Amino acid sequence: MALALFGCQSGTHREPERPAPSARELVDLRSRVLGYTATFQEDGPYTAPDDDGRERLARGVGRLLEGDFRRAEELLAPLGLGITRLTDTASGRRYDEVAATGPGDSAHWGRLYLNADADVRWSAQVPHPRSDRNTEDLGVRLLEDAPGGALVLAGAHRRAGDDGAADVAHREDSAFHTVVAELQRRGVPGIQLHGFDDSSDRRPYDAVLSTGAAQSAPGEVVALADRMEADGLRVCRGWSDRCPLEGRSNVQGRAAQRQHATFVHLELAPHARGDGRDADEAADAITGLLSAWAHD
Ligand SMILES: [Zn+2]
Repeated sequence: MALALFGCQSGTHREPERPAPSARELVDLRSRVLGYTATFQEDGPYTAPDDDGRERLARGVGRLLEGDFRRAEELLAPLGLGITRLTDTASGRRYDEVAATGPGDSAHWGRLYLNADADVRWSAQVPHPRSDRNTEDLGVRLLEDAPGGALVLAGAHRRAGDDGAADVAHREDSAFHTVVAELQRRGVPGIQLHGFDDSSDRRPYDAVLSTGAAQSAPGEVVALADRMEADGLRVCRGWSDRCPLEGRSNVQGRAAQRQHATFVHLELAPHARGDGRDADEAADAITGLLSAWAHD
């Protein structure tokens, strides 16, 4: 299984002389993302895109990943989504953002950030911003710290809308799933970031790591577990330990297995996210994994 995962094509290749999106902004990337997620409410509105909308979104994101900005913009505009080339004032680095251009359903579908100066070689997925506190901060940090990244962010609190509709880790009808699936189709490996509270079933762990539906782990994921443990974090390894696993029912994990794309499901204790030594160790260890993927 691990060999099969290594054998897949990974990364996307954009044209070197590609034109940039027409919209450009100078922003603080961190504030841009966290300002968006700060608006999410547990009882907020959420309506998933319909079948046609998801199909259009998939094609638009596909064209964007290939560097065809003009066609991507044409496909996304009727959905109320636009592409903006952002320059981060903190780092000078450039990112392409897919985000809603106004209020309406698409404002709650989430966002995509792509490193604009490198081919996309990995994704960090944040399906439960706000409800899994500080996973959105961690996602931004990873995008800033490792080259070649895509950050896929949900656009609503997991309890928004009706009957779990906005819990995008368990909903294939979401924009979030559509975007992740397009990356997986291109062989781009991804890590999905979750948090758990200090409930008894996860004690004494600081991190629960799994490969979603897969029963084995590629070498670089084992190396992530090793590094976290060497840094003093207690890690449950879903492929060899008995862990309380959310990852098995995760729909992005199942889709990854179908596409033979590597999927890592990481749940972190509260003190291993946000600020502090354990959170820094965890972020540095994940950055090591992403850098390995970027240089594959
Ligand atoms: Zn979660």
